[in-house]
Amino acid sequence: MTKDQLRQRLEFYQDLGIKTIYRRPATSHQPPTTVPVPTATSHQPPATVPMTLPTLEPSQDSLLTILTDIGDCKRCGLHQGRNKIVFGSGNEQSRLVFVGEGPGADEDAQGLPFVGRAGQLLTQMIEGTASKEGIPIQRPDVYICNVVKCRPPENRTPQPDEMEICGQFLYRQLQSIKPKAICALGSTAAKALLGTKDGVMRLRGKWHNWRDIPVMVTYHPSYLLRPYNQNAKKEAWEDLKKVLHYVYD
Ligand code: URA
Repeated sequence: MTKDQLRQRLEFYQDLGIKTIYRRPATSHQPPTTVPVPTATSHQPPATVPMTLPTLEPSQDSLLTILTDIGDCKRCGLHQGRNKIVFGSGNEQSRLVFVGEGPGADEDAQGLPFVGRAGQLLTQMIEGTASKEGIPIQRPDVYICNVVKCRPPENRTPQPDEMEICGQFLYRQLQSIKPKAICALGSTAAKALLGTKDGVMRLRGKWHNWRDIPVMVTYHPSYLLRPYNQNAKKEAWEDLKKVLHYVYD
């Protein structure tokens, strides 16, 4: 292109109001010398990259802060199939917290834990045992939540990375409520809290600890719904009696 042609083209673009047609950056073929890293103040993890949270909870934590931090969570793959995040429900100052595995279809639809068939059985267990034992509590007096807050596909067991990522929020919930005792419902909750591979049969009925808070492990209500597990039902009621007396006597 001649100088005249170039001048004409410049004038053409200037007439259109375009000041710069092309400017080659001084270092255009140099790769950036530093890779951007998240700073201490970036609260939002990248949208699809799984990352664990710091193990230390903020010193002024509250359930509301935790819920806000969860936000429209995309930290693990479970977000892809969820309708609602199931954070937890009940008395936020409760002396007793029940921890389940993860939401099922009913919970995912309503955004509330243990509202399906297993949830109805859990309510009966809590209220039936409490009333038989003369302990004046109802389900809304306790707090109920899960290890993972989004429904796993086909209700499968949460995977280790999902438990690790979401478990940080569970830990913050428990640390913030500071209950007198925790009741772990089933092996996923037991694993998340106690870090053990032992099954419920071995763990149930005895006291364990999560950060100095006593933990009772018992059967998950879904397991108790199966007709051939009648003996387990009796054992679960025994476990619950122990927990309720320890917490409310
Ligand atoms: N099973 C769970 O573990 N949690 C629920 O909330 C419902 C069913």
